[in-house]
Amino acid sequence: MKIKVLGSAAGGGFPQWNCACPNCSGLRSSTLKGRPRTQAQVAVSPSQSSWFLLNASPDLRQQILATPELAPSPSTSGSPVSSILLTSADVDCVMGLLHLREFQPLHIYSTLSVRRILTEENSLFRVLARSNPPARWDSLPLDRLFPLAPPSGPGKKDGFFCTAVSLMGSFPDYVGESLRRSLPPEEAVIGLQLLQKEKRLFYAPSLPGVGEDWQRFQTRPQDRAGNGPRSALWQQRSSSTPLPPWKNPPHAHPSEQYESGLK
Ligand SMILES: [Zn+2]
Repeated sequence: MKIKVLGSAAGGGFPQWNCACPNCSGLRSSTLKGRPRTQAQVAVSPSQSSWFLLNASPDLRQQILATPELAPSPSTSGSPVSSILLTSADVDCVMGLLHLREFQPLHIYSTLSVRRILTEENSLFRVLARSNPPARWDSLPLDRLFPLAPPSGPGKKDGFFCTAVSLMGSFPDYVGESLRRSLPPEEAVIGLQLLQKEKRLFYAPSLPGVGEDWQRFQTRPQDRAGNGPRSALWQQRSSSTPLPPWKNPPHAHPSEQYESGLK
């Protein structure tokens, strides 16, 4: 598993366009020793040829252009970015999807609630359906190992999996009241544990601080809530819990009864 951190700033980036705090002003006038930063964005690759984006930041176009590994190959003429995993429907997590609308077939994974917010309430995101085939959405179940990419060949054990864990945050303010009432709150904000062979990565760009379930993915006592950072990104090597054999992903999550109405 390869991991690239494409951006590491909070919402608005650094410097923020409308901020005159000492840091932002100092960076603009070069009196502060620092580097401009784009918004939090991570890309993960289970193989040489394909990359998964963890969320889609508002700075995504600039971040992809600055990363040679994410450039389209002249031989296939397509982008190696094949899939996006969304941790919430927050603007900072989904706005970059609009940068990916240029007729590239995509696979988008999120909780069913996040998918409903983006596809039922926000017609802007229908531009993703213009590609051929249109963007495919899959709903991530909570607390269950979910298959993302099959092994590289027969007998290989390098399949790529993830487990979504609820972080008990809230849905964004822009979600309409009636839809919000119909959505389970545990699907508002998730953290992702990505697994391939003995490698583990836990990604949680926003920790609302109200749920504690995610702490079971921690490996270092100093990261425990109260002492640790508000964001968590770390990689763990573990051989204690072997991954199950590869199984093809389920067609639809059992809670997707609404599906027929959406299609
Ligand atoms: Zn500032």
